[in-house]
Amino acid sequence: MALRNLVIEGDPLLRKTSRPVDEITPRIIKLLDDMADTMYFEGRGIGIAAPQVGVLRRVFVIDVGDEHGLIEFINPEIIETSGSQTDHEGCLSVPGKTCEVERPEHVKIKALNRNGEEFELEAEGLLARCICHENDHLNGILFIDKSVDGKVYKAGESEE
Ligand code: ZN
Repeated sequence: MALRNLVIEGDPLLRKTSRPVDEITPRIIKLLDDMADTMYFEGRGIGIAAPQVGVLRRVFVIDVGDEHGLIEFINPEIIETSGSQTDHEGCLSVPGKTCEVERPEHVKIKALNRNGEEFELEAEGLLARCICHENDHLNGILFIDKSVDGKVYKAGESEE
């Protein structure tokens, strides 16, 4: 198990656009493994994108605790979205903050797995939300940019 250091809001790395993976090398496999370890560490996260560990590559991993378990996405592309949902989000790179973000209710995404095979996944609810959140990281976008009311709250603080 290897943990990577998290990049925290304010670091310009989080605002950069990540580059596609050209070849799935042992370094990319190690990155995927380390990202999952870092996400699961103390059960803190349900998703993490490579820029959050300082690597500007189009890679993220997600485990929202459903039947899919851990899903690894390399060079992901959201190909369809529909519906809408609004809920609170948080982020390992934006500790202690939350806000409400509107996301599609359904997304269809294609990506490569660690064997370089393309797969498609249809997701809804929390998984769809998480996919959109992580995909935004690859384009330098943070959830706090998308607050529905323009406000960002301390996690646990009343909004009233
Ligand atoms: Zn995040």
